[in-house]
Amino acid sequence: MRFSRKGENCNASLKAPLNNPNGMCGGYSNIIFLREVKTTMSNCNKESKVRKNSCFSLFSITLFLCCPLLFIIGCSKKASEASANVLLITIDTLRADHLGCYDYFRKTSPNIDHFASTGVLFEHAYCQMPTTGPSHASIFSSNYPRRLGLLKNGWVLSSQYPTLAENLKKNGYVTSAFVSSFTLDPQFGLARGFDEYDAKFSSQGSSGGSDFDWEGQHVEGGFDQRGDVTTLKAINWIQKHRKEKFFLWVHYFDPHSPYTPPKPYADDFLKETRTPLDQEIANYDGEILFVDVQVGKLLNYFKDESLDSKTLIIITSDHGEGLGQHNWMRHGRNVYDELTRILLLMRFPDVIPVNLRLNHIVQGIDIAPTILDLLKIKKEKSFQGQSLLPIVFDPKKASNQIAFLERRLYEDLVGQKFGIRKGGLKYIWAPEEGTEELYDLTKDSRELLNKAQWEPELTKKLNHAIQVWRQEQETGYQRERQTIDDKIKKKLKSLGYID
Ligand SMILES: [Zn+2]
Repeated sequence: MRFSRKGENCNASLKAPLNNPNGMCGGYSNIIFLREVKTTMSNCNKESKVRKNSCFSLFSITLFLCCPLLFIIGCSKKASEASANVLLITIDTLRADHLGCYDYFRKTSPNIDHFASTGVLFEHAYCQMPTTGPSHASIFSSNYPRRLGLLKNGWVLSSQYPTLAENLKKNGYVTSAFVSSFTLDPQFGLARGFDEYDAKFSSQGSSGGSDFDWEGQHVEGGFDQRGDVTTLKAINWIQKHRKEKFFLWVHYFDPHSPYTPPKPYADDFLKETRTPLDQEIANYDGEILFVDVQVGKLLNYFKDESLDSKTLIIITSDHGEGLGQHNWMRHGRNVYDELTRILLLMRFPDVIPVNLRLNHIVQGIDIAPTILDLLKIKKEKSFQGQSLLPIVFDPKKASNQIAFLERRLYEDLVGQKFGIRKGGLKYIWAPEEGTEELYDLTKDSRELLNKAQWEPELTKKLNHAIQVWRQEQETGYQRERQTIDDKIKKKLKSLGYID
């Protein structure tokens, strides 16, 4: 047995025109076809009356013969949306600003960068809580961790909250997940809705050790697995299910500490380092390059099998990593951007624009409603997030421009810490510690100059917004607990166990 750091810490600008801005039935194809017909008619008008009549007859016949074709072309987009596959890739511990497509100085991500250019990139996407379990629970249930009552790893997502996988399964999808860390073991509730859920890891190759206790649970076998193994498993699964309509979730864990990328992924980055911290960061970047290659392999497989044109693909992360900023190397402990800002990329050929970068503030809880909206499937009533399609199709449209953040529950810390990201501002409040921080991210992206004392009115307003939000989450959670208790009591009563 080896104790692991992995276990310990995992606790608009429109660059291209919209292809089909409203996502309606293949309008573009119809326009071209009708324009050609109109041109033919116009040419006919220059001819004699007899010729004109024959032209008109020709047009009528053409139109008659092509009606079914028009119908097919017109509805092809709708059909593709209804029959599209979904691939969701979550990359653990990947902070957005260490990727080329988010302006990082090292070449860590050629495959992800290329993918970003073929779809939509969200510049300011935030996870709800920078910890693996709660963050993934937020993505899948579209609920804030506080609403779920799920504030740390090892806690279970209540079956009260329907998930994206359950919804897609209900709507005819074959569903499968390949995760790479015990943190997402089926016992924690995320396997609901998946026909297959692979979370078994060999002790060989596990960087997080094997056979030990973690968050009160015994880990049998390895704690995690490398991305190349996960990719192979995922591809094997697709080979068997490629003709079905599927939802596939692939989770990679490589950028999580310890940073031990296979050779030679960090070699070039290490050449530039001088301090131990530089070396840590270079190795972290090497892990990103390694996982980028895995993502590339998976995407290439989709391309080779002609699946990419009929698959909605989303790439995101559950949280970032401190890497020494604000005196913290890992994640979980605070809500600064290095921990909470995540990548969010989407591609859906012929449906959403390509090479579009959006500046709106969006959240992890928005991912599931957006996927369902793109597939024209009704979202669950319990979802708290909102579809991002309105801003994807109309980038000038304002979103709610707010993200609520919270650090995980630490028994050894003095209390809770909340954050709100609104406009260009970030406000952070730790009620038990009695601290407030206010940053202007438009001028201070590294959150170094706390302006709270100079902006008392603004600070008060943002504090109030967090208090209202917190109250709503906690009241909702208690109400839902009460409903469950009432249902259980009713059931027990009907069985004669209680009066
Ligand atoms: Zn994580």
